[in-house]
Amino acid sequence: MSYYLAIDIGGTRTRIACFPETGDTPIKVNRFDTKCVEKTTLEQLLDFIDSCWPEDAQVLGIGVAAPGPVDPYEGIVIEAPNIPEWDRLPLREILEDRFKVPVKLGNDANLAALGEWQYGAGKGHSHLIYITVSTGIGGGVISDNRLLLGERGLAAELGHVTILPNGPVCSCGQRGHLEALSSGPAISKWVANELKNGNTSILSKEGTPTAEEIAIAARNGDKLAQSGFSRAGEYLGIALTNFLHIFNPSAVILGGGVAQSGALLIEPLKKALQEYIISPKYLVDLTLTLSPLGDNAGLMGALALLHKADR
Ligand SMILES: [Zn+2]
Repeated sequence: MSYYLAIDIGGTRTRIACFPETGDTPIKVNRFDTKCVEKTTLEQLLDFIDSCWPEDAQVLGIGVAAPGPVDPYEGIVIEAPNIPEWDRLPLREILEDRFKVPVKLGNDANLAALGEWQYGAGKGHSHLIYITVSTGIGGGVISDNRLLLGERGLAAELGHVTILPNGPVCSCGQRGHLEALSSGPAISKWVANELKNGNTSILSKEGTPTAEEIAIAARNGDKLAQSGFSRAGEYLGIALTNFLHIFNPSAVILGGGVAQSGALLIEPLKKALQEYIISPKYLVDLTLTLSPLGDNAGLMGALALLHKADR
């Protein structure tokens, strides 16, 4: 029996799954903290790959989904949020030297799009957009049955499009990006500021409420909390309208914890789509759905990289 190893490296948690050569159901999935006090993050990762290696069996390849910008052509992690020492880390070379098998590497949100296309809600769609809305906003695009990578592998940074010039500061340092308007922390910050300004709400005026707490308050009829989500949903809808105009997909898949708030975010998003789209033709038969793969989308995308040797 031969296997593939798929790895999803998160800022806090890393998962390694061992898949049979022809299947998409792992025989085991191991999780561990990405950061470790005794060892470097890289040493820790290498040790965990060792511990997941199937006994008396061949491993055909390793697929890796890494956070932050990566160079998928050269197999380099350019910068990983929360892992400062991984600055231009040649991860593919390191893993190939150590384990003597082919290694493929991609950005986690790009690979989530690939995972959904191959195994999830994107099956059968030649053109799709995947957007994850959580602490940040990431994305991936399948165009004409190929994962869009761009000249340097940096394509589809869907969270860093400018929606509101001079708007709030984004994690990247620029102002008014989608991520600074519609991510979980963006919703929290906006609501906290409104509370500070004396707006009435059932939310505590002490500290900053989390997006989850705001979602609960919104479902309980709190107007300020509802506004927090409708504002975020509208900006997301405006951004999505732009993406529809550029890529004309037949499916839009939403992942990430904030997207799980469902109608609170999706209804204002849909309203914005109707309002800003230049032709209803973009919306005919458009599938708009939450990610069925959820947290596994990146992991499944890492597997898809290995199954599709040309990617
Ligand atoms: Zn940004």
